[in-house]
Amino acid sequence: MRAILTYHSIDDSGSPISVPPAVFAEHVQWMAGGHVRVLPLVDLLGLDPDDPADSIAITFDDGFRNFRDAAAALLAARLPVTLFVVTGHVGGSNTWGGRTEPGIPTLPLLTWAELERLAAEGVTIAAHTRTHPRLTTLSAESIEEEMDGCVRELGTRPTHRSFCVSVRRGERRRRRPGRPAIQGGGHDAIRAARAR
Ligand SMILES: [Zn+2]
Repeated sequence: MRAILTYHSIDDSGSPISVPPAVFAEHVQWMAGGHVRVLPLVDLLGLDPDDPADSIAITFDDGFRNFRDAAAALLAARLPVTLFVVTGHVGGSNTWGGRTEPGIPTLPLLTWAELERLAAEGVTIAAHTRTHPRLTTLSAESIEEEMDGCVRELGTRPTHRSFCVSVRRGERRRRRPGRPAIQGGGHDAIRAARAR
């Protein structure tokens, strides 16, 4: 078994992007319990296909400020974590495109200073687009700008990129050639991660 556990926000709102703090604490306890190998994302994706050990990687999308507590718990348990940041919203909130989304709490995002601190403490910071647009509505050129602009603003070249997009029913089937392939499913947010 191999899996990428993707979290967004650790809060008690009950929203589709939220995991309650008490439940997350149970996850950390289990992940630290030796039941499964927990690897940095880059190592998980680079594993030998024949490697038999059950392995997971832990990631967080969007860069909510409540990640600080989650990161502290993970790092204290020596569990590696990758945080995907929306560079155009650092220090702001998850009002992507200036809009709130029904059922999704509007929450503060980490500042650059906080991101630097987290990186120094051992969190891997990676790119999650500049403005968190609905990628399937963009031209190939705009998608590249969202990706490359995010990497540029991070001032680094992350080994992996991640794109979290809201996908309405049937949208994948309407995808035009040249648009990015989207894998996975669940809730209204899915991820396509690719090795570079
Ligand atoms: Zn996202």
